[in-house]
Amino acid sequence: QKIPNVLLANGKSMPQLGLGVFKVTKATEVKNAVKWALDAGYRMIDTAAFYGNEALVGEAIAESGIPRSDLFITSKLWNSVRGYDETKQAFNETLQRLQLDYLDLYLIHWPAPGYVESWQAMEELYGLNKIRAIGVSNFEIEHLNDLMSKTAITPMVDQVETHPYFQQKDLNKFLTEHSIYHEAWGPLGQGKSGLLEDPVLTEIAKAHDKTVAQVVLRWHVQRNEIVIPKSIHENRIKENIEIFDFKLSKNEMAKIEAIDTNERSGRDPYDTEWLV
Ligand code: NAD
Repeated sequence: QKIPNVLLANGKSMPQLGLGVFKVTKATEVKNAVKWALDAGYRMIDTAAFYGNEALVGEAIAESGIPRSDLFITSKLWNSVRGYDETKQAFNETLQRLQLDYLDLYLIHWPAPGYVESWQAMEELYGLNKIRAIGVSNFEIEHLNDLMSKTAITPMVDQVETHPYFQQKDLNKFLTEHSIYHEAWGPLGQGKSGLLEDPVLTEIAKAHDKTVAQVVLRWHVQRNEIVIPKSIHENRIKENIEIFDFKLSKNEMAKIEAIDTNERSGRDPYDTEWLV
């Protein structure tokens, strides 16, 4: 199925669904997952320096033969790198590992102290067209307000944990108001917390002859989020994009809205002990 594009605030198009590769580090697994995804019609890949797989993602992209301009590659700046020059250096290393000469989207991975200087370096790289869109990840409203008050460019994307058990309703509203695209990581609840066995979701899935994973991804898309489900299995990689041929009704969207428990499955961006 064809994956629609969304338009970021600077006019850059971004596929609304891509492949996440967190925790995928074995060479065959990275290369197969990226290959199967590209074969299935994915064009966006979400990696990070921290994932330790940029070089393998780069090899898989190079081997695919798909024109660079058809791909959308995201990577992220890790927490241990802060400072203007250090950020530019880390960005260049990411590009080298990916065998690319520009990135489509570069994100500050977590709001670790010093993110303002890193952002200023990213603004410069954006001005030089080395990055086509810049954004943040795991930034809460407080971090976004702080960053926006000190820098020139508003982030185009905030990639944050989001799924039916952790819907981020306040942040979602704030992002919409500021034209910052909401990108969901852990869109399937990271396969944890019983999300994929939820009875409400199971019933909705039956009604549409879809899987719970597909219903969850469809819910994200109808909320106007960008999603990056991760899988290393060919059948699931294919399954996860078969979501553009059905629609959840208003009533179904409301039922899913009601199962929010506001519980994270991943790390808390306010866990400063871990962040520094
Ligand atoms: P996810 O919600 O995508 O869940 C992935 C897990 O769900 C898989 O390991 C598998 O167990 C299961 N799964 C996938 N497809 C399925 C299907 N069709 N049916 C049943 N089970 C299925 O979790 P994630 O990998 O943590 O998040 C997605 C991506 O988001 C990551 O790969 C990474 O690129 C990004 N991410 C970013 C951050 C950040 O801090 N910015 C943090 C975590 C993840």
